[in-house]
Amino acid sequence: MNATTTATGRDWRRDAECARVDAEIFYPLDLDPTGPAVTAAREICAGCPVRLACLLDVMTGEDPARRWGITAGLTPDERADLFAGRQPASARPGAVAA
Ligand code: SF4
Repeated sequence: MNATTTATGRDWRRDAECARVDAEIFYPLDLDPTGPAVTAAREICAGCPVRLACLLDVMTGEDPARRWGITAGLTPDERADLFAGRQPASARPGAVAA
């Protein structure tokens, strides 16, 4: 298994829910973490069977200078928190989860 394949050797991207919908959903102009645009993307990611592989991929390969859009159900700021070893604000007590 590597960054692009599952234990069975299948490219996880083939099972990505985001491949079946308009990609623009994942690049909203309004990145309010509780706003309707981010929530819509999060809901798709929440039902995605390859979310963990997606998260591992983005956490190992994302260029911080090019961090944009919703990936693995996380906003750019939330991914920056994870990269920095902080718990994303959306995961803190009292936050609204998708
Ligand atoms: S978890 Fe990743 S692969 Fe799945 S829908 Fe979200 S962005 Fe796409």
